[in-house]
Amino acid sequence: MNISSIIEKANALTEKITELRRMFHAHPELPWLETETSLFVEQYLRKLGLENIRRGFDGTQSGVVADLKGGKPGRCVALRADMDALPLEEENDVPYKSTHSGVMHACGHDAHTAVLLGVAEILSSMRDELCGTVRFLFQPAEEAGMHSGAPKMIEEGALDGVEAIGGLHVWALLESGKLGYRIGPVMASADIWDLKIQGKGGHGAMPHHAVDPTVTAATVISTLQTVVSREIDPQETVVLSIGKLEAGTAVNIIPDTARVAGNVRTTNPEIRARMQGIMKRVADGICAAMRCTAELVYTPIYPVTVNDPAMTQLMRSVAVEVFGEERVVELPVAMGSEDFSYYGEKIPTAYVFLGIADEAKRTGNQHHNPKFNVDDEPLPKGAALLAGFAARFTAGGSGS
Ligand SMILES: [Zn+2]
Ligand SMILES: [Zn+2]
Repeated sequence: MNISSIIEKANALTEKITELRRMFHAHPELPWLETETSLFVEQYLRKLGLENIRRGFDGTQSGVVADLKGGKPGRCVALRADMDALPLEEENDVPYKSTHSGVMHACGHDAHTAVLLGVAEILSSMRDELCGTVRFLFQPAEEAGMHSGAPKMIEEGALDGVEAIGGLHVWALLESGKLGYRIGPVMASADIWDLKIQGKGGHGAMPHHAVDPTVTAATVISTLQTVVSREIDPQETVVLSIGKLEAGTAVNIIPDTARVAGNVRTTNPEIRARMQGIMKRVADGICAAMRCTAELVYTPIYPVTVNDPAMTQLMRSVAVEVFGEERVVELPVAMGSEDFSYYGEKIPTAYVFLGIADEAKRTGNQHHNPKFNVDDEPLPKGAALLAGFAARFTAGGSGS
């Protein structure tokens, strides 16, 4: 399919995509509560004539999946937009400021939803030329951590029959109008852990009658710092951080227990798989040496987001046509995490970053900041990119 006609159609949607983005921005909804947004998306897709429309996942009214069937045979690809907002009071003074107190689209998922509706509009207007099927995933609860949207949608069949998936995130760390990509790991995993150290409480004056969990906790903490520095290849990226430390009630009491908790991030799925075992060995060993016992609860949250080489090349080749070679840039790995990673554990993915930072428009503030704001100008290009990627893939194209 001709990318230039896709770009033309996307440009013609500039006003509409901006309007949609600002409308979603003014009406943000928290994870798993994206009911109004989902209802709007469903009705929009129905009007465009999409098929197999399903709204509501995990027993909620949130999330929409729909298929656009092309007029020619071909492969099946999915495109995903997340729709949730954050529990944050907006500090921007804009006409489309959040009207829901304490809730704000501070990550740009309003833009993702608007862009993907634009893609549905572009591709449905050229469906006779389109091969195969494009499945649209409007996902709830990307920000929900342990109970996020992607694994629920997968569980409930959203990827059934899908051969590859693409998506984008607007990116405040990248200049507006640029497109960032990376092959292989692109965002880190994020896991949390909680360690309970059981000692034996007693009087602060008679430590020999007690078993002190606080000194043990201190030793465990220092030793955990050697895991990354002494046990992992220095060329790998791993972060092991302590975020919580709790013990004791009074200065003259040796407490019964101590609790240490934190998180682990890495860009290597194999290292991620080893971390729980390493931490348990350190905690058990130190605790045994110091007469305590350790109880480690390690909870995997988001996997590493890994971009498939062929899919990413395909996305990149379309991006060059849409943005121009000099505006398509390779990005370093981001240590943040994304539940798009769950899709990547099932099928080949291409997840890319659409620059939105423009100093004059004050759109360079960090994601999750109360002054975060999206530059609407590059959004039609984002829509053209995803539409072009889907059209090329379903027609059997590859990036090489
Ligand atoms: Zn976010
Ligand atoms: Zn986000």
